[in-house]
Amino acid sequence: MKLTILGCYAATPRTFTNPTSQILEIKNRIFLIDCAEGTQVQLRKNKIRFSKINHIFISHLHGDHFFGLIGLVSTFTLLNRTTDLHIYGPKGIQEIIKLQLRLSNSWTNYGLFFHELESNESEVIFEDEKVLVKTIPLKHRVYTNGFLFQEKAAPRKLNLDAVQNYEIDTCYYQKIKNGKDITLEDGRVIENDKLTFDPIPAKNYAFCSDTAYNEAMIPIIENIDVLYHESTFLQSEENLAKKTLHSTAKEAATIALKSNAKQLILGHYSTRYENIDLFKEEAATIFPEVLLADDGKSFEF
Ligand SMILES: [Zn+2]
Ligand SMILES: [Zn+2]
Repeated sequence: MKLTILGCYAATPRTFTNPTSQILEIKNRIFLIDCAEGTQVQLRKNKIRFSKINHIFISHLHGDHFFGLIGLVSTFTLLNRTTDLHIYGPKGIQEIIKLQLRLSNSWTNYGLFFHELESNESEVIFEDEKVLVKTIPLKHRVYTNGFLFQEKAAPRKLNLDAVQNYEIDTCYYQKIKNGKDITLEDGRVIENDKLTFDPIPAKNYAFCSDTAYNEAMIPIIENIDVLYHESTFLQSEENLAKKTLHSTAKEAATIALKSNAKQLILGHYSTRYENIDLFKEEAATIFPEVLLADDGKSFEF
């Protein structure tokens, strides 16, 4: 899994920073998460192929998370896209995009499908043979979801030497990969762990932005490998965080700790702070496995 941060600052685009957008590459699929202004330029700078993006997940309808969407939808047409595009986001997103297209006398020459969300419970919104995506209901000033991306467990790996030693017919290989024991013709039962290796463990990633401190998300993201949690403010601006339904670095770290995350990545920094290292210092007092997102930075896990 590879996460590329296209933008991770709050509010407005600035000379050297961009509002929220990121690319998650998971099992050869490329998902775009949020699409703030400037996302197209950031995609170009980070050499992400536009044609590979078939699914876009929008957390909420604040401008710093989706004002780049109409531009990207239009560019896809200019690039002669023909593949379907799926957009997952809050109810109303279809109306916004279609209104913009209609009043600018524009259209798409590819299939544009909206999957509007309005549930306050976690739900599966995407699934194929290798990946599952669920919503993480968040607490913010407007209806907001985070997203949980889960790799599905891979089949066990065949130990070729072992199966050949036991002279097991190839027609049983799939059954063995699925974890079954094998009974030989002489009646001996060979346990599966003698015939296979453990697969690469399935990983998961949770994107949680924007949100106030919200323990309701903990059961959904329990034991998560990587948690991206917003930290708009430091604890010194706790009151502002409460008022605007955002989190502090300390609160993000507390969620990581309580959900038994392996890794925390912070982002959505208010542009009032000159030095984002302060976010890491504050979070590390609670949860040491913390990294800072920054525009153009990639994480592999
Ligand atoms: Zn925001
Ligand atoms: Zn917001």
